[in-house]
Amino acid sequence: MAIDKLNQQICNCRKCRLWRGAKNAVAGEGPLNAKLVLVGQNPGSEEDKTGKPFVGRAGKFLNKVLAENGINREEVFVTNIVKHVTPQNRKPFLDEIEACAPYMIAQINLIKPKVVVLMGAVAWQSPKVEGPIYVETVHPSAAMRFTKMRKRFLEDIGQLKKLL
Ligand code: URA
Repeated sequence: MAIDKLNQQICNCRKCRLWRGAKNAVAGEGPLNAKLVLVGQNPGSEEDKTGKPFVGRAGKFLNKVLAENGINREEVFVTNIVKHVTPQNRKPFLDEIEACAPYMIAQINLIKPKVVVLMGAVAWQSPKVEGPIYVETVHPSAAMRFTKMRKRFLEDIGQLKKLL
């Protein structure tokens, strides 16, 4: 399936309740030949406004950590397991994750990256496609807030370059 068709499906998705409260679906962004795919939880309010993933505070932190480890965000495909903002940025419910996860799987099957990084416990619930190496790390928002989480995030992002 071509990416345009997939993006259109995501934008028109009504498989769960979340579209009702969203300004934009946030399908994901990055080159289709990316070796690295990063997966977060769901778009926040900045992402909902712009239609782009990780453009708020967590995104700026993510970009900085990537850059410090020699990875240019422009070369990475960034997405979320859930493509619509949630009310008050609550954790997505299981049925919302299950409704949305096939889009992420389709994105990974199209991109065929070497490495997929699942950021945070919600993203860890993602079904895994055969092929890429999966790395589970904490969510950048948690890494920003908690020293222990930051240490883990920095270690996990720090080992990506050698996997690519
Ligand atoms: N947090 C996420 O999990 N995804 C985003 O796109 C932004 C913040």
